[in-house]
Amino acid sequence: MTGTSPLPPRTLTKSRFKLATECPRKLYYVGKPDYADRSLEDGFLQALAQGGYQVGELACQMHPGGVRIDTLDPAAALDQTRTLLARDEVTLFEAALAFGDTFIRVDILRKRGKVIELIEVKAKSYRAGEDGDFRGKKGQLTADFLPYLRDVAFQRWVAEQALPGHRVQAFLMLADKDRQASVDGINQRFRARREGRRLRIDVAPGTDATTLGTPLLAQIPVDGQVDQILADVLPVAPGQALPFAEAVATFAAAYRDDRPLPPMPSATCAHCPFRTDCWPVPGDKRSGFHECWAEAFGWQADDFAQGTVLDLWNFRGKNALIAQGVLKPAQVTMEDLGFKGEPPGLTGLTHKHRQWYQCQPDWPGGGGHYFDREGFIAAAADWGFPGHFIDFETSVVAIPFNRGRRPYEMSAFQFSHHVMERDGRVVHRSQWLCPDPGKDPNVDFLRALKEALEGDEGTIFRWSAHENTVLNQLRTQLLEQPGSVSDQDALVAFIEGITTRKEDKEQIIGPRNMVDLCALAEKHYFHPATKGSTSLKKVLPALMRSSAFLKETYGRPSYGGPGSSLNFTEPMTWWQLRDGEVIDPYQLLPPVFDDLPPEELATLEEGLSEDLREGGAAMAAYARLQFEDLPPAQRQAIASALLRYCELDTLAMVMALQAWVAEAGIDWGG
Ligand code: SF4
Repeated sequence: MTGTSPLPPRTLTKSRFKLATECPRKLYYVGKPDYADRSLEDGFLQALAQGGYQVGELACQMHPGGVRIDTLDPAAALDQTRTLLARDEVTLFEAALAFGDTFIRVDILRKRGKVIELIEVKAKSYRAGEDGDFRGKKGQLTADFLPYLRDVAFQRWVAEQALPGHRVQAFLMLADKDRQASVDGINQRFRARREGRRLRIDVAPGTDATTLGTPLLAQIPVDGQVDQILADVLPVAPGQALPFAEAVATFAAAYRDDRPLPPMPSATCAHCPFRTDCWPVPGDKRSGFHECWAEAFGWQADDFAQGTVLDLWNFRGKNALIAQGVLKPAQVTMEDLGFKGEPPGLTGLTHKHRQWYQCQPDWPGGGGHYFDREGFIAAAADWGFPGHFIDFETSVVAIPFNRGRRPYEMSAFQFSHHVMERDGRVVHRSQWLCPDPGKDPNVDFLRALKEALEGDEGTIFRWSAHENTVLNQLRTQLLEQPGSVSDQDALVAFIEGITTRKEDKEQIIGPRNMVDLCALAEKHYFHPATKGSTSLKKVLPALMRSSAFLKETYGRPSYGGPGSSLNFTEPMTWWQLRDGEVIDPYQLLPPVFDDLPPEELATLEEGLSEDLREGGAAMAAYARLQFEDLPPAQRQAIASALLRYCELDTLAMVMALQAWVAEAGIDWGG
């Protein structure tokens, strides 16, 4: 089972191979305590927020009689695996295999005589009609699934070397979105438990194939795709790619010898886990990113202080810029961004304008920020009062709550709702949260939202497409289960009235369609502090700096108390200075999890995409309420924190609108 004995101390594992395929230099930084590392492997909150841990346990339940190799000690795991593989037929969870400087733990290994099945379980959704055989039109493996397929290819390669004389077959096991749960309450059978930063799962007694009902995971053979990868090359250095086996040997030897491979700067450096925000000073963690760019481009601290093209917002051409040696925003030209001669900023901003203003602050009107007053006034002309500001917190739960529901369907568990009257009065009017474990929140969420928004015809504001997407997904869920709720027609009509949706390529716009303030920000407001982003978490602090109205209004204890806020019982001062800088209002809130170290939340947010980061803490909080056995006081503390954060989300929308209305000089005459 192992070509060399004893096992070398530094082996190429699945996760290290994955890092090497992203950038071979990462192998040099991984696991070194003196380097910053923002990756979140084994982070408790991240695992909870992403919800995938249940999928792994469910996969094991689908292979009854499997033997788990429980030890974390590689040599002991190899010994146990070797012993068990002496049987003619056996199923193993976390089997250990090694060859040379490589070492893998296999999620599920089935041995049937001379045939070995390797099953890699991924917490990822799959739909046969959309994902097909993971190939694009030209036969190339799709970027979305390539990392998973490479992972299985690496495992099959190691297994073939470690188990000569066997035929090794590779499979991916994924959550199948076309399958519906046939029993209620499956996800409550998998309970989460914290062990340090790791998440452990306890499976409820009596859980078996019968109690789990229809299998929700699909086992997909991927030998053809693996053959394709094994026949291809992998980059090992700039301008150098090697056949798969040679690349693995190169990675493994470099890692074994703790020898850095050359950096390969690209757009992925923006998300490299081995980076600090600034050039490190003595006492700080070392920054792999700064060392890579210093080595590749001869950069010094001054160069980094001028920013990099990695910061360009929503720009897909970063690799081309880096390849041309265009590394700093100040070096970027309008042609680089794809402008075709149009002047910037005359009729509202496009993505290109936002990117250009990150490079050159030459927006019309000058000053510290750009605001398209006329455009904003025109957009505001049709709004009606009172204005309603809503924000949802949602989660896609890997394993459904109830029968009839599918893996990774949308669950809307919370909303907050502010109201602004024509005369400017602002009230946190309603909110809703479902903290109950095992309860599918969606129908009650819709009923509460409908009640909150009906009663007048005032404009409804959201920030980003999220609320529209969620409501459309809930509409689909309702329509898929006709007659399942008594007020289905009314709920569907409510959703259709306030959303936009596509049907047969036709855009259908509800009569009270929500107004997206994020789209307004994108078109009419730019502040360099946002780095082009239109995330409310970036726009609010920028507005706090630029708006005299916000400073005046929120620089005193003006918000909170009975009648205005449902969660802040004492008036809050949201505009505050620290070291001469306006404090991000979110930093004025107490932590969401007072029973966890703050770095848990910080690392959770680092590990999520920008989209998910917005609601990452809420998702993790909801998962804790659902799947962790918490003392009542802790449950209450988390629920209270969720309510406060969501209230600030809709208050932040109110603040943004107030700042723009004041800057535009609009008087609604209330
Ligand atoms: S900063 Fe870039 S070049 Fe360096 S390890 Fe990370 S991804 Fe690779």
